[in-house]
This record gives sequence, structure tokens and C-alpha cells, in this order.
Amino acid sequence: MIWQRTHYCSEVTKELAGQTVTLNGWVNRRRDLGGLIFIDLRDRSGLVQTVCSPETLAEEQYRAAEGLRQEYVVSVSGTVQLRPEGQANPNLASGEIEVNVQSLRILAESKTPPFPIDRQEDVDDSLLLKYRYLDLRRRHLQQAVIARHKIAHYVRNFLDAQGFLEIETPMLTKSTPEGARDYIVPSRIHPGKFYALPQSPQMFKQLLMIAGFERYYQIARCFRDEDLRADRQPEFTQIDLEMSFVEAEDVMNLMEEMMAGLVRAVTGKEVKTPIQRMTWADAMLRYGSDRPDTRFGLELVDVTAAVAKSEFRVFVNTIAGGGVVRGLNAKGCGARFSRRDIDRLVEAAEQFGAKGLIWFNVGEEVKSPIAKFLSDEEIAAILAKLEAASGDLLLLVADQAPTAADVLGRIRLLLGKELGLIDENRFDFVWVTDWPLFEYSEEEGRWVAAHHPFTAPHDQDLDILASDQGRVRAKAYDLVLNGIELGGGSIRISKRDVQMRMFEALGFSEAEVQEKFGFFLEAFEYGAPPHGGIAFGLDRVVMLLTGQDSIRDVIAFPKTTSAMDLMVGAPSAVSAEQMRELKLKLDEGK
Ligand code: ASP
Repeated sequence: MIWQRTHYCSEVTKELAGQTVTLNGWVNRRRDLGGLIFIDLRDRSGLVQTVCSPETLAEEQYRAAEGLRQEYVVSVSGTVQLRPEGQANPNLASGEIEVNVQSLRILAESKTPPFPIDRQEDVDDSLLLKYRYLDLRRRHLQQAVIARHKIAHYVRNFLDAQGFLEIETPMLTKSTPEGARDYIVPSRIHPGKFYALPQSPQMFKQLLMIAGFERYYQIARCFRDEDLRADRQPEFTQIDLEMSFVEAEDVMNLMEEMMAGLVRAVTGKEVKTPIQRMTWADAMLRYGSDRPDTRFGLELVDVTAAVAKSEFRVFVNTIAGGGVVRGLNAKGCGARFSRRDIDRLVEAAEQFGAKGLIWFNVGEEVKSPIAKFLSDEEIAAILAKLEAASGDLLLLVADQAPTAADVLGRIRLLLGKELGLIDENRFDFVWVTDWPLFEYSEEEGRWVAAHHPFTAPHDQDLDILASDQGRVRAKAYDLVLNGIELGGGSIRISKRDVQMRMFEALGFSEAEVQEKFGFFLEAFEYGAPPHGGIAFGLDRVVMLLTGQDSIRDVIAFPKTTSAMDLMVGAPSAVSAEQMRELKLKLDEGK
């Protein structure tokens, strides 16, 4: 008996009525209606309803149909017929027809799955991950994995048409400088030595530019041993690329063409190009975030100047200490919010790291816990700066600029959600440009590269590279979508002496530089073209374009938040023999 398919389930539509088809798939559901047995057959395209009747099936095959259980793998052949009047299912591509089975063959039996495949039910996450291959049979994950393929395919086609070459770079390599912890792999041939898995192909892609390939890309796996949050995975995928003879604008222009095309292809939505550009400084000032959600207003306002002459101690001390006073106007919330609502915001601000949240409820009179410390003119100046009208609630934070921005930025997001200001159907892209080149690490007590140490500083800022690190701007850009960073890149340093000065500014000793980056610096002595690039988090791109809430839903075999693969059971111990070969001993006392 034949068992190879002629059609996928979803392809069987009323145009095929009267024809014989052969379908392969899984039993999604079986209903026995006393005589007629309905089997919903599922393959990766979707579902089709099939009917087994004792009139059309040989006795033995009819018995087999009676014995079918969920998730059995079958092949059926039969005639496509229109469903009886009123029984069409508009939710299925094949909803107007059913297949009257003439022959049936069971290709594999199945145990009862540990959770239902044919419907969404609350199931313990660890069970889903342990049986990931069953979870992957469910519709939403099938669709996400298929969408991921389509997105990668689109990107490859786009970049190929633009003259990019797909080039692989090593997995077993040396520590790379993205700043996270490395995954390391012991070497058997060189006991005591280790490879590192790449945090990104950064240095390799730059070397490919020096090698003269001009345009490189790779859908590259990257590894970072970080403490995981819900939207992080220890191994993740980047759309990674690099171009020679370009400036920042060239990279951004090409990438927004790619992104706009991708959004159109996946969602049918139009992205307005050019995508707006906003400097990092502006984003921090107006949105209190380096990845602003521009789907709604509620922008922050600096009121430092308006309160500069105040005698209110909090303002005086903050400003004297180099800090700022910033605020936002929650329009209409003064009239709407109870005292308890306001207290909740104050608590939230404190949790976000503020010493307090100052509020003004603008009614016929202005109510505020600090009203008695301010003159009428000062209050009027604050109201004017925040364009307050009756019924508004003004929220102010006095602190160092980064804290004030961060706290208000988070309050802004919280209010944006609570007040329903966010249009979930929008795709709002923004480029955040001119990042600081350095950031100060309290932990390490020194300046570190904000992006990575190969990012070029602005030409005008070269003179202050070693003397005023906090003010040096980078030729770096991030693409942000709806408040989520999709990716970032930069124009790179392409001169050896500037790269050397950058390492010095980062506090590397000559010997350290030589040991870590000697090979890289040397390459710059053999004619390095100006170059730059970018990398996007593919997992995030897929998650956002397909409307999933977690990157786990767009990765076929993800890890838990404690970096475990519950299906294969990794990480796991290795044998004593493997340890001996590697000349490794566990320090079990610790
Ligand atoms: N390698 C960088 C990263 O992973 C991206 C880039 O600069 O192209 O963040």
C-alpha cells in the first residue's frame, strides 16, 4: 500500500473535491460517533478532518481506526468531499472539506503524551522542556520555528543581493571582548590551556575586512555565560555583519531597508523610513532610557534651571552636588489618582533607586508634600516647565542625572502601561546614536568600553580620549524597537595608534594588550580599510515580529533560566577517563 503523501493537510481544500489524496501525519484528535470515526490529522502545515466509515473501509482497517490514539503516526488515502451543510470550520484552511478514508496504515504508535498536544493548557514549564519535541508539535511553537526560518531566509536573500558573503568563523577560539563571562573549553592536546566560545565574531569579522572581503555576514551563534533573565539565553544567535569603506549612516541606511522589508514580509506592516535617529544624550534626557519606547509621549523634562534658586534643601543639595531635577507630567492623573495610587508610585520610585518622588497634584490649588518649602514663583515655574494644566499630576526626581533619568524612565513605562498609552499594534523603530565610548564600572573602579574596545570615538573627541573619558562619544548606533534593543554596532577603529590609545584609556598594560590582542593589532599594520558593522539579536527579532513574549518560544531547543537543557540533561558530569585525558581535577572541597 502506498503511504507517501500527495499533499500537506492544509493544502486539501475544496478545489480538490472528488480527488484522492494521501496524507501523512499525527492523530491530533479522534472522535468515535458510533459508526463514524473522525480523525483530525495534523502535520506541520495544520489540520484536516478525515472520516473512517465501516462502509468504505475494509473491516481490518476499520478496526485499526478504532484503535487509533492521540499522536499515532498514520498514512491515510481517501477521497476529498465537501463537509455537510453547516459543518464547515472557518478556522481551518481545510475547513470546508473532509477526507473519506479508503485506506489507512499505522506507521507508529504513541504513548499517551505527558500533556495535551491539541490544546493549550497550563503545563509545568519543566515538563514542557523535558519533552520539548512534543511541545514543538504544538501550533504556536511550530509557527514560531517556521517564522524564524523565514526571517533568516529573508535576511540571507537581502544580504546576498547586497553583495554580502556568508563566512563562518571559529567556535573554538580565544576570549573575545564583549565584556561578559566566557564559556571555556579545555584542550586535551594542550593540557592546562583552554579555548573560549565566542561571545561574538567581532574580531574575526574585522579581520575579514582587513582580508579584503568588503561585506561579510553570518547568522552566528554567540555564547555568554551571564546570569540569565527571562529574555536571555546562554547561547543565542546574531545576524552579524561588517562592511568596508562605510560611515555610520551607510550602515544604518542599509539596515533599515532590511528591517523595513523584513517587517513588511512577516507582518504586512509598513515601517516609515528613514527611521528616526536620536542621540543617546537626547534619549536619556527625554525618555530616561537608552532604548526608548517611542510609542507614547509622557516625555521627561529637565526642571533644574527652574528650581536653581530654590531654598528647598533637597533641591539645593542635589544641584550643589552636580545633580539634576527632572520630572514628567502624568496628564489628567491628578484628578484620577487616589492618594494611595500616588503612594504606590512613590514606593515604585524608591524601589527603582530614587531617594524619593516629589509630586504636585495640580487642582484649583496645587497640592504637594513640599509646597510649603517653595515660593509661589517656583511652583509656577515648575508648572510652566511641565506644561501643567488643572487635573495633572507632576512627578519629580532630584538626583544625579543617571539615577533621575533611570527612575523617571521606569515610572514613565509603568504609567504608559497602566494608563493604556501604548498602542500594541505599532512597530516604532528608533536609532540611538552617539553613545558614550566609555562607562564607569563601580565594580572594577575604572572606565570600561561601553560597547567593545574596537568602537571608534568621534573624531572631535580624540583629544580627550585619555583625559575626559565620560565625555567621549562613540560612532556607535543601536536599533531599538518598541523599547527593546534589537541590535547595535559601530564604526570601528581602523588605525593601530588609535586602537593602542583606546587600550591605554581602558587601563590595559602593554603586556596585557600584547597577550590578548597582539595578533589583532598587528593586522592593522597591513592596510586596514575603514570599516563598521552591526549585529542584531535574531531571537529577539523573531520574538517581536511574531508577537511571542519570550525568546524561549522562538528557539527550538532553549535552556532554562538556570542554563540547563532539561531534555538532554546538560550540563552533566563527564567520565573519570575524560577528566584524566584533559588532565583536569575537580576542586570538590569548594
Ligand atoms: N559584536 C558586537 C556585539 O555583539 C556587535 C557589533 O559591534 O557589530 O554586540
